[in-house]
Amino acid sequence: MHIVVCIKQVPATLDVRVDPVTHNLIREGTESVINSFDENALEEALRLREKFGGTVSVISMGPPQVREALRKALAMGADAAYLLCDRALGGADTLATAYTLAQGIRRLAPFDLILCGRHAVDADTGQVGPELAERLNLPQVTMVKKLECDGKTIVAWRECEEGTAVWELPLPAVVTVESKINTPRYPSPIGIVRSAKKPLTVWTAKDLDVDEDQIGLKGSPTRVLRLFSPQRTSHVEILPGEPEEAARALVAKLREQKVL
Ligand SMILES: Cc1cc2nc3c(=O)[nH]c(=O)nc-3n(C[C@H](O)[C@H](O)[C@H](O)COP(=O)(O)OP(=O)(O)OC[C@H]3O[C@@H](n4cnc5c(N)ncnc54)[C@H](O)[C@@H]3O)c2cc1C
Repeated sequence: MHIVVCIKQVPATLDVRVDPVTHNLIREGTESVINSFDENALEEALRLREKFGGTVSVISMGPPQVREALRKALAMGADAAYLLCDRALGGADTLATAYTLAQGIRRLAPFDLILCGRHAVDADTGQVGPELAERLNLPQVTMVKKLECDGKTIVAWRECEEGTAVWELPLPAVVTVESKINTPRYPSPIGIVRSAKKPLTVWTAKDLDVDEDQIGLKGSPTRVLRLFSPQRTSHVEILPGEPEEAARALVAKLREQKVL
């Protein structure tokens, strides 16, 4: 099997701060990590390779520092990494990101399965996986918490409001995964040593045979105009006294606020 895993490098979530003047994300000095759901996607790919053999490729679109995330993916066990890196690709929204990734993935054909995270924790749209499936004209299932595969078809358990839906899809297909699907492995010391010798290929826009009007800022109809931290409105009040007395005071306050 050839499994392609889409990896996005994101700021380590708790470190994200918003510049109060420019309203942009402050990335300087913040640690960057692999999007956690993408680690689940990679773990699932590695487990499938252990069962069926084959190759796991990881692909990412982003600036040069994304090499670090891809090296970690190689250390976890991926066989080859591809970085789509070019100034012309910068400022992409999900539409342009999915288009560019699709062009990169086409170059990796033949492939059997494309795995993505359910969403990226920084922008959180959850659109890239489904858009990628549309671009590649492949069947898709999102937010998968359990996956079974016989090498030709997959059965995917998807959590939804009413319960769990079980889907069967022919391969090749696109699947986005939940964190419940598995626990990602840590790179082993030997994995880290071996990763240095594994191929990490960088492709520019020219290598990808892309339509210039569909990449980067030019190919992105969405604009993020402003980012801002929500104002804290929470107020804490400790009700003193014995539990019964405090409970009575709490009920009175909730009635006062018309919550009860
Ligand atoms: C705060 C913020 C808000 C934004 N809001 C929007 C918006 O509303 N609409 C919009 O179009 N764009 C938006 N963007 C831009 C958006 O971050 C980029 O388009 C991004 O490249 C993909 O969107 P996402 O992070 O939402 O990915 P998601 O769709 O949430 O990611 C799902 C999965 O797709 C894969 N993936 C996503 N990006 C990449 C990548 N670069 N390389 C490899 N795999 C990838 C990963 O497997 C990931 O788990 C926003 C950016 C920020 C910082």
